[in-house]
Amino acid sequence: MLQGILTRLFGSRNQRLLKQVQQTVVRINGLESSLAALNDASLAAKTAGFRQRLAQGEALDALLPEAFAVCREASRRALGMRHFDVQMLGGIVLHQGKIAEMRTGEGKTLVATLPAYLNALGGQGVHVVTVNDYLAARDAEWMGRLYRFLGLSVGVVVSQQETAAKHAAYAADVTYGTNNEYGFDYLRDNMEYSAGDRRQRGLAYAIVDEVDSILIDEARTPLIISGQAEDQTELYMVLNQVPPLLARMPHEPRPQEPEPEGDYWVDHKSHQVHMSEQGHEHAEQILQRMKLLPEGASLYDPAHIALMHHLMAALRAHSLYMIDQHYVVQHREVIIVDEFTGRLMPGRRWSDGLHQAVEAKEGVPIQPENQTLASITFQNYFRMYRKLAGMTGTADTEAFEFQEIYGLETVVVPTHKPMVRDDRQDQVFRTVGEKYGAVLADIRDCHGRGQPILVGTTSIENSELLAGLLAKEKLPHQVLNAKQHAREAEIVAQAGRPGMITIATNMAGRGTDIVLGGNVDKQVSFLEADSSLGEGERQARITTLRNEWQSLHDKVITEGGLHIIGTERHESRRIDNQLRGRSGRQGDSGSSRFYLSMDDPLLKIFAGDRLKAIMDKLKLPEGEAIEAGMVSRSIESAQRKVEARNFDIRKQLLEYDDVANDQRRIIYKDRNEVLDGADVRERIDNLRHMVLETLFRDHVRLESIDEQWDLEALQSTLAGEWNLDAPLRQWASEQAEADDEALLARLQALGDARYRAKLDAAGHEAFAAFEKTVLLQAIDNHWRDHLATLDYLRQGIHLRGYAQKNPKQEYKREAFELFGRLQDRIRNDVVKLLMSVTVASPEQVQAARALQEQQQAGLQISLIHADAASAADADAATAGVAAGANAGAAAGAAAGAAAGAFGGFAPHEDPAAGPGHPAGMRSPPRSPQGAAPGSPSGASSSPSSGVQQPLRRYGEKVGRNDPCPCGSGRKYKVCHGKVG
Ligand code: ADP
Ligand code: MG
Repeated sequence: MLQGILTRLFGSRNQRLLKQVQQTVVRINGLESSLAALNDASLAAKTAGFRQRLAQGEALDALLPEAFAVCREASRRALGMRHFDVQMLGGIVLHQGKIAEMRTGEGKTLVATLPAYLNALGGQGVHVVTVNDYLAARDAEWMGRLYRFLGLSVGVVVSQQETAAKHAAYAADVTYGTNNEYGFDYLRDNMEYSAGDRRQRGLAYAIVDEVDSILIDEARTPLIISGQAEDQTELYMVLNQVPPLLARMPHEPRPQEPEPEGDYWVDHKSHQVHMSEQGHEHAEQILQRMKLLPEGASLYDPAHIALMHHLMAALRAHSLYMIDQHYVVQHREVIIVDEFTGRLMPGRRWSDGLHQAVEAKEGVPIQPENQTLASITFQNYFRMYRKLAGMTGTADTEAFEFQEIYGLETVVVPTHKPMVRDDRQDQVFRTVGEKYGAVLADIRDCHGRGQPILVGTTSIENSELLAGLLAKEKLPHQVLNAKQHAREAEIVAQAGRPGMITIATNMAGRGTDIVLGGNVDKQVSFLEADSSLGEGERQARITTLRNEWQSLHDKVITEGGLHIIGTERHESRRIDNQLRGRSGRQGDSGSSRFYLSMDDPLLKIFAGDRLKAIMDKLKLPEGEAIEAGMVSRSIESAQRKVEARNFDIRKQLLEYDDVANDQRRIIYKDRNEVLDGADVRERIDNLRHMVLETLFRDHVRLESIDEQWDLEALQSTLAGEWNLDAPLRQWASEQAEADDEALLARLQALGDARYRAKLDAAGHEAFAAFEKTVLLQAIDNHWRDHLATLDYLRQGIHLRGYAQKNPKQEYKREAFELFGRLQDRIRNDVVKLLMSVTVASPEQVQAARALQEQQQAGLQISLIHADAASAADADAATAGVAAGANAGAAAGAAAGAAAGAFGGFAPHEDPAAGPGHPAGMRSPPRSPQGAAPGSPSGASSSPSSGVQQPLRRYGEKVGRNDPCPCGSGRKYKVCHGKVG
């Protein structure tokens, strides 16, 4: 009842929208004759005229009728295709930032040229999004003739492209490319170290082809760029020898007392180790003796600043992290123990080199670091475009989701010619065997008469099963399985030849249509390009070819056009419609039928009992099917149920991803400001003031009295780790009256002066570049850690449900806190490094910068997107739903939904994870395999920048009979090297 009302409402809205748009089409048509009279040059000159009018403030909408008319006329001349009126309708819908539902074969590739042309006039670039590289190149090539005729430039972005080519492609007026490539380029751009290396120039307008496939099917898994750091096993192992050589202070420096003897102290409260000035010098001596640090060099030298970082990690590993308390060693692996629950957390790793340092301490293999460097979902990528539009043959069933998630309205555009396909009732059999028997009979019948058949399956296994059956029957057939792009286009092109049997898994997003009688365009274009033929002969051959095709085409039409056989209902009606939609294009005849069995997963789970009851009642004999509207209706309602569930799951995912997305936008905005800014000096000065004040206030609390001031520890830390000698105690004693504000001001002044001096020595310009690099690197490193932490938090958050807390709220709250800490850490790292590094000349700074950037280049990058549209993944999705249904988890139950979502749909997530844990922890690496269990994933996994560097040897191992590096003068074996 309600459904009926909704449909009627929706239908009438669609009618209204179409009516409005129709008026514009009438205006466009009115311009046709005058444009037809123009010569090519005058027609092309219209582009410049439009651009001028735009620049003078005319609105795009006002230009639309003329621009569309010009585009149509140019298309007629350049491509030999005149946009049909319905294509004009579609073009207007796309320009309005909506989704145009247009059937397969209606010519959507051509439709996109209209809004692309119009919107490119503004000069901000239009991105046309296709599902694979092959289609991107094909469409850019094909439609490029039209754009170029009109004086626009066209580019294609594909994977594995040289950066220069990519820059050119994005600089073009209209760019074609895949969703993956656009998304990865966006992420890559936010990992660059100089502004000029970025590829994209903003996200103005995207037209997404096969929009349901891209924004719904593929939206289940994020794009991930992951990187493996250079192997530093040896460095960790050598540095592991250092902490035992350093002396721990009996206690931390205390107010008003002389500093105790020793090199470092352990602050259990903040879980930190601090090094004193003496410790710093001592460490330098030891590292020099171990040949890790050249004679006379300092840990403050830019070349060795990373060593300091590693040394601190080793110190923390030795003095703060205890076996069987903070971690256990099992099977030669260091496994973290959750400090609150005591549970083991296999696969989790501490960040910042700490885990490796602990592994070195325990003498177990040091595992390489593999980290997510950046990731984004398609939802969040495409929502960044200022205007977004999409087209597909099947959007209507998902109209609600498009509206809800993307704010995209769907408009169903009528077909150019009336649709006459005969969609027959589903036939439901008791067993799979009976079902395939009927399928084979149908195929045999069509094939015998010379009617082409397209058989759709829901999995590659079923395709193979069917292919085996056909082979046994000696029925010739072709199989279309995984996405083979270029080859697939050829298979599809021939699928309409008389009697052809084609088996395909999942026809969604395949982008090529089936021409009855086969496709001769390719052969024609061969002939056209063949220079050995005379003009007369060429034309004659082409005519023969076309005539041959015509008779094949006619034969197929007489036999009823393309017949579609579905061997199973997909859980989404949209995918079924995709399959059906291959037949009956452009008013062709055609037919379709789905064959089902009670053993099909969808029926078993959602409609089983009811159907079984009907079957039993009817006492159906073996081999007979039921075929009734009631059955179809209950199947459709089952599909609706699954669709709604899947939508809920995607929505849940998105809601979680939104949190990371907001943070990502802040970080990327910051990062781009740093990249674009000529100078980051002011920013750095502000950071330094903030960080020094925080450090100061850690030791000198607001409103405290001077006896409580912990100036000794502060002074020692500043000297040991900040390379800043601030005689705080002396300053305090010079004060007539205790005044912490004055003390802080003096410390800030000293910091400023020291920084200025450094700038003078290093050269302002060179140092500015260095500051930029340091800042970018700190942002990147900590952002990556943060990503892992968020991930981990999300995996554990559904357990909060037990504590009567809303997991999403909890997640948001904690993510917010973590983000604050992330910003603290970035600030701290940047300021500490810039303060402590000693540089004496511009050359030294340049060397330091090069070194920093080299670290970045040392990462081995891989690109991951588990291809959710692949058939096997469709299975995984079914499994996920089945599991959820069996567990009785209603869509609303957060825990179940989360488990389903993370287990079945976002495959890198681990539903069995422990509860959340504070920062500083990292999730296990996401390998391409891990990213999509049971699916041929890694859709675009390509090694790129950065070649793995060979193992380097750090320092030298200390021999048993060598002098001990601690400086005692005794042999190592009787000093610190003593066993036991
Ligand atoms: P869709 O993407 O909508 O399934 P395509 O863009 O692949 O359809 O186009 C299907 C076929 O229709 C192509 O062979 C194309 O050349 C043809 N076609 C599209 N528009 C026109 C037109 N206006 N006139 C003639 N042929 C057209
Ligand atoms: Mg298409």
